[in-house]
Amino acid sequence: MHVTRSQIVSRGLHHTCPNCGGRTLFQTGKRFALNPTCPACGLKLDRGDGFFLGPFVISYTVTVAFAIVPLLVLAIFGVIGPTPAIILGGGCALAIPALLYRSSWSWWLMGYFYFLPQKLPHNRGARREDEEE
Ligand SMILES: [Zn+2]
Repeated sequence: MHVTRSQIVSRGLHHTCPNCGGRTLFQTGKRFALNPTCPACGLKLDRGDGFFLGPFVISYTVTVAFAIVPLLVLAIFGVIGPTPAIILGGGCALAIPALLYRSSWSWWLMGYFYFLPQKLPHNRGARREDEEE
């Protein structure tokens, strides 16, 4: 079985495992808990030190680009006052990363495996994931 880049993108947009396509990225019943490995195919989802920073960067970028900067511009040009801008900005800074938790993890895994598709077990044949190439 071979996983193509278009399948990786599709699976990333649908929040499914990049390797097997199963709905197995997150622990059942927990909104904010990534499975360390895919229960269906064994793909290591948390790929080690610092890997969790990728979804943080995605959430941060979306929050700044679509909430903080627009609120700042509205406040600078006097459309809204500084106090409402600060309150709205704080609320958005808390809410947007929480709402994007699952999407940002899925998008990060999609980006990672889009550029390194050979890291997927289905693209590596019978070799184990922890084996070096
Ligand atoms: Zn899987």
